[in-house]
Amino acid sequence: MDEIKRDYVFHRDLTKKYPMITHGEGSYLIDEQGKKYLDGCSGAVAANLGHGIAQIAEAMAEQAKKAAFVHTLRFETDVLHKLAGVIGKMAPLHLNKVYFTSGGSEANESALKLARQYHRDAGKTQKHIVIGRWQSYHGNTIGALSAGGDVKRRYPYTPNLLHFAHVYSPYCHRCPYNRNQEDCVANQNWSCVTDIERTILELGPENISAFIAEPIVGSQQGAVVPPLDYFKKVRELCSRYDILLIIDEVMTGFGRTGTDFAVEQFGIEPDILTFGKGVSAGYAPLGGMIVHDSLIQGLLENSSGKFLHGYTYSGHPVSIAAGLAALDMYEEMNILQNVETQGAYLMECLVALQRKHPYISDIRGRGLLIGLELMKDANQQIFFEPREAASEKLNEICMELGGVFYPGSGSIDGHKGEHIIISPPLNITKSEVDEIVRLLDHAFSIFYQHIR
Ligand code: PLP
Repeated sequence: MDEIKRDYVFHRDLTKKYPMITHGEGSYLIDEQGKKYLDGCSGAVAANLGHGIAQIAEAMAEQAKKAAFVHTLRFETDVLHKLAGVIGKMAPLHLNKVYFTSGGSEANESALKLARQYHRDAGKTQKHIVIGRWQSYHGNTIGALSAGGDVKRRYPYTPNLLHFAHVYSPYCHRCPYNRNQEDCVANQNWSCVTDIERTILELGPENISAFIAEPIVGSQQGAVVPPLDYFKKVRELCSRYDILLIIDEVMTGFGRTGTDFAVEQFGIEPDILTFGKGVSAGYAPLGGMIVHDSLIQGLLENSSGKFLHGYTYSGHPVSIAAGLAALDMYEEMNILQNVETQGAYLMECLVALQRKHPYISDIRGRGLLIGLELMKDANQQIFFEPREAASEKLNEICMELGGVFYPGSGSIDGHKGEHIIISPPLNITKSEVDEIVRLLDHAFSIFYQHIR
């Protein structure tokens, strides 16, 4: 049986075999040998309550017993309304309509299409280009990949990608515009913002439908937080040039960075906010977008109220039931408080660890989304070569030791720049944080011998 399973699965890396997981317990995954892995990245920053939450599993089972499938093109379910209501109340004030998908890529595809349709039906037929950022990931489907800037994921498909534009995101620690933050603030002249305006003017605002960004850059850069005013300036530019602002909270949403949505911390309202991952705490494929009242008004006035888009599994009742139960659990567990407490403690421990391990050249992030940048020599600013696959190697060592994190590379120019993300379940305990830090400490000492 095992052999059959292994032989027929098309893994992304066909050369590798992975531990066979039989079940999970709290923050741990357990393989067939009984080995435990502390899930230091909540899977793909999705299993935000760890494993074995009976309430969520039971809510899903109850819903599945009621109906196999309910087509949202023809029918409604009460869970659909309840979940949309809970999410709508969490969202910024004027974002009130929730559209469901099966994940983050589909959510961003939906947002890009909605932006295009909204403008087109209002008579602005030229508006079709999306401006994204080189340091951003929005998913692997063609539209989302075109909007994102992950060079490694994009390059084989370049001829298939849409002609979207890209600017650099504010990565002040290694500013792509060679500026420093104090100087930008003192002179109120931010190259990362003026570059957006330059791009808008060059392409012609009449051709641009949307600007899309992650509020805190996740997988591609390792939890890089922008300066406080950046998004206010972006919001102002988008409004000035009639460009819709799409904020991708697929990784950051539902408490991951200490607030329901990260955008709250930057004091702006986007036109569309996309979500995924944590909404169902990883129990079922679920994502979606929350849409500003003005877009809904536009659709009612100019499009006969119809969004020309849809997926078979939009609003699948079992996924929706999982989402509803997960959001209930977040509230019941007072998850935001735990993120604040354990996030601050984890950060403090990692800063202490950095003094011991010269490979950690930067620590950044918010709440329980923390990135460690890795360099060959932080003092002399020597980067790892991409072929050394340093973050993957570090994670392999961690897995040997019984932990797993989220490795990434290419934060500098698409190739150079290694990091790992530490993003444990949001209900992690203090002793589990201690275990993460002990595990990383041990892994770094082994890593040191490997790399020399
Ligand atoms: N947007 C962000 C910010 C993500 O981190 C991801 C996935 O990692 C996606 C979109 C794509 O989501 P999915 O893999 O669910 O399609």
